Amino acid sequence: MRRTVLILAVLAAQLYGEPAFAGGPPKNGIRWARDFDEAFAEAKERHVPVMIAFVQDGEAQNDEEPAVVYPDAKVVKASRALVCLIASRGTAKDHGEVSVTEPGSKSRNVCSKFGAVSCNEHQKIETLAFRQYTNGSINTPCHIFASPDGKEMFRAEDYVDSAALMRLMKQATDKLGPGIGAEEYEQLQQTLKDGESLFATKAYGAAAAKYLVLSAKALKIPAVDRARDRLSEIDKLGAAEITAADQKTQAKDWVGAYSQLARIAVVFKGVRAEKEARARLADVEKNPDAGEAHKLAALEEKARPMIAQAETLMQKGQTDKAEALYRKVIQSFPATPSASIARDRLGIGEPPATPPKAKDGNPK
Ligand SMILES: [Zn+2]
Repeated sequence: MRRTVLILAVLAAQLYGEPAFAGGPPKNGIRWARDFDEAFAEAKERHVPVMIAFVQDGEAQNDEEPAVVYPDAKVVKASRALVCLIASRGTAKDHGEVSVTEPGSKSRNVCSKFGAVSCNEHQKIETLAFRQYTNGSINTPCHIFASPDGKEMFRAEDYVDSAALMRLMKQATDKLGPGIGAEEYEQLQQTLKDGESLFATKAYGAAAAKYLVLSAKALKIPAVDRARDRLSEIDKLGAAEITAADQKTQAKDWVGAYSQLARIAVVFKGVRAEKEARARLADVEKNPDAGEAHKLAALEEKARPMIAQAETLMQKGQTDKAEALYRKVIQSFPATPSASIARDRLGIGEPPATPPKAKDGNPK
């Protein structure tokens, strides 16, 4: 055990007031997982090994790992084929921490020595890993490779340089067989997230396009299962809307039927319901009794390019521009199916059937 060495070195550093890792955390270094259990849950989904790196402070060979080996671009790239945990007892006082803000999340503290995790997080990981993978002592640096179920595959109880560490990583991934790399996994998660937010705004066709990307993957992961569930949900929703439109047609409510079908054609763009809606819209257009619906159709023709553009902007994440265009559709063509879609997207309700008029004739 080298823990005695560690304590003396840290004491020395504190006594002489040496700044702890003044350069800040390594940029683009290994993306250490922040939680022991979550690391294994992710490893299970991806079918990849977990590497647990035990590193102590204040000893030359231990220090070499985070100073030289872990920030090595080749090592970082190889590490993406696994889930990596850093097990260190060092405190925020020992290592120093900096606050970072990642896109789309709150700011958090990150350890200046290892990066990616806070000192508190790597301490907790050390406690759990030490309990699970040692008999009360360990020679560090030590790299333990475990299968997703937590079973140790093998360990290397000594200093490893970049080439040696990459060999170990490859040995572990080869032993386990093909898994999902971190890039692909993160992309899949992002695609699901995009699909879910489109689904929430009832842009079912656009959401389906995201879900289809996921469902085409021959992967047994929750994101793919979720996407498949959503696709059948979208099919059911579309079928229900078509049925409702058909009931309006049977009741000779041509305007009602037209409005609903035109909505379906936009909202369910690219999925089965769109095709069915378009066939029925053609029938309404041919129907000589549907004069009022034809007037509405003429207005909808004008609104359609605007709503199509707004939908595209929204899917590209240009929310502000999309919202401005939705408002324009509502203002210019308030009675059209496109305006009804725009209200959905902006989360505002349908207006009363006959809007109250002010004295000057403008709607209130
Ligand atoms: Zn730390």
